Amino acid sequence: MLPPVLIVEDDTKLARIVKAYLEGADFRTVHASTVGEALLKAEAELPLAVILDLGLPDGSGEELCQSLKELGDFPVIMLTAKSSEEERLAGFALGADDYMVKPASPRELVCRLKAVLKRYDRTLSSPESVASFNDGLLVLNSLRHQITLDGAPVSVTPTEFKLLLALASAPGRTFTRDELVSRVLGYQFEGYDRSIDAHIKNLRQKIEKDPRAPEFLKTVYGVGYLFAGERDAL
Ligand code: CA
Repeated sequence: MLPPVLIVEDDTKLARIVKAYLEGADFRTVHASTVGEALLKAEAELPLAVILDLGLPDGSGEELCQSLKELGDFPVIMLTAKSSEEERLAGFALGADDYMVKPASPRELVCRLKAVLKRYDRTLSSPESVASFNDGLLVLNSLRHQITLDGAPVSVTPTEFKLLLALASAPGRTFTRDELVSRVLGYQFEGYDRSIDAHIKNLRQKIEKDPRAPEFLKTVYGVGYLFAGERDAL
């Protein structure tokens, strides 16, 4: 079964209409009416896509869009009363995949959602989104945020996934803790470079046969870490 589409909208009447149209087009839906609720549901459901209203009671949809994009690479369609070109461009800069101004036609919304999903599917089948290492032992799917180890799915947190992806993007290259912190946690965590150690430790428990003699996540003493897996040729 496909994951649901997350509808983030505090206007319950509008949310009901969007839900009815999406379900009429055979999508499953979940609804959130606040930023807080949206983040919880997005983390729990890893939605197929997010329909995002920008005016929310407990925060801005723009910030939520950024947080959602950090959580997973879901397509986001912004739905908003804001209509100036500048505001629209700001939405795209935050990673929105499409943008609709209220009052919006629910039928058009369904069409745009399908178009956005098609674009994502195309990227999903491109080799860049899936990387396999050590003869298929470790496989990373960067669009679905999934890891499999020896064919079995491994459950990791979004931070652990980003950390592994950052390291595996350049096998054999040493990354300093600072570099990893800014790539994985963002600039606001600069100076907390030891927090990376805790995430590495957890990842080793999940993906290494012997976490004390890691095959993939090696410590470079006094510097940081490197990914020692070998990328499989296609
Ligand atoms: Ca609203």
